[in-house]
Amino acid sequence: MFKESRMARVRQVQVIAHRGASGYLPEHTLEAKAMAYAMGADYLEQDVVLSKDDVPVVLHDIHLDTVTDVAERFPDRKRSDGRFYAIDFLAEEIQSLRASERFHHRTGKAVFPDRFPPHTGTFQVPTLADEIQMIQGLNKSSWRSVAIYPELKQPKFHHDEGKDLAGIVLKELGKFGYSSKTSPAVVQCFDETELRRVREELGCDLTLVQLFSSADWMTKTDAADERRKRLATVAEYADGIGPSIDAVFLEDPLGGVPIGSSLVVDAHAAGLIVHPWTFRADAFSSMFKSFAQMHQAAVLAGIDGVFSDFPDQSVKFFENIAAE
Ligand code: CA
Repeated sequence: MFKESRMARVRQVQVIAHRGASGYLPEHTLEAKAMAYAMGADYLEQDVVLSKDDVPVVLHDIHLDTVTDVAERFPDRKRSDGRFYAIDFLAEEIQSLRASERFHHRTGKAVFPDRFPPHTGTFQVPTLADEIQMIQGLNKSSWRSVAIYPELKQPKFHHDEGKDLAGIVLKELGKFGYSSKTSPAVVQCFDETELRRVREELGCDLTLVQLFSSADWMTKTDAADERRKRLATVAEYADGIGPSIDAVFLEDPLGGVPIGSSLVVDAHAAGLIVHPWTFRADAFSSMFKSFAQMHQAAVLAGIDGVFSDFPDQSVKFFENIAAE
């Protein structure tokens, strides 16, 4: 149903702004989300972890030290492994930090050297509530219905720390009206046990996407039986899969546009939508001649949506292909 309702649109492949317009502005800042919104993304992604006082905050890692100035602001608050954990800080403390473009926590150097310079600007780490308020406000003022796409980050780590990340996040989403199958929200997670729990024990009706890092069962020709079995199991509780991009495309031996892998075909046969990650204009596989060709391959493979660091380019490429 989720997919059919979109068939009438000109652009059939959905664009999920990966951590916002993260190719241009520091990931997961409200600025990056507003920019992605204005660029025409269909979904804005939130990675979610908990603060010490159980507030869901939008942050890619359980650590704060790769995207904030926490090490300078609170030098004594690191754990014995030398890292600074969001879960050890109150939401108020996290919001008092300056957020930055992603950097290596030991050297301070940029992870993506050609992107926004790290350690500059006056950005913050938003709470999930702050971000949803902004998106819902924009939806009202611009007459659009851009969806959210929260990821439950490391639920096992949170359980070990005595916290139920999924339970708290679902409650927060419910407060903002995201509670039914038709709500403009997708919940994603790498942890299969936890995502099944979200559906079966926590009774969540939202669209669910099971994330997967590349593995042999996804792509190997002789793993077809295992692949179909695993996908059938996922289809018991989820609506789609979010595989890493290297499991989705195969190089064309004749040098043409790369083709979709069996994973895409088998997932669709199991009734699952496919949302691979990540489309990056400044870092894509050499099997593609250009970033544009990567989008062409996605259309030809029947991909339902892509996580993109460059939502403006993804929107433009998919629209151009649809118009051809
Ligand atoms: Ca994510």
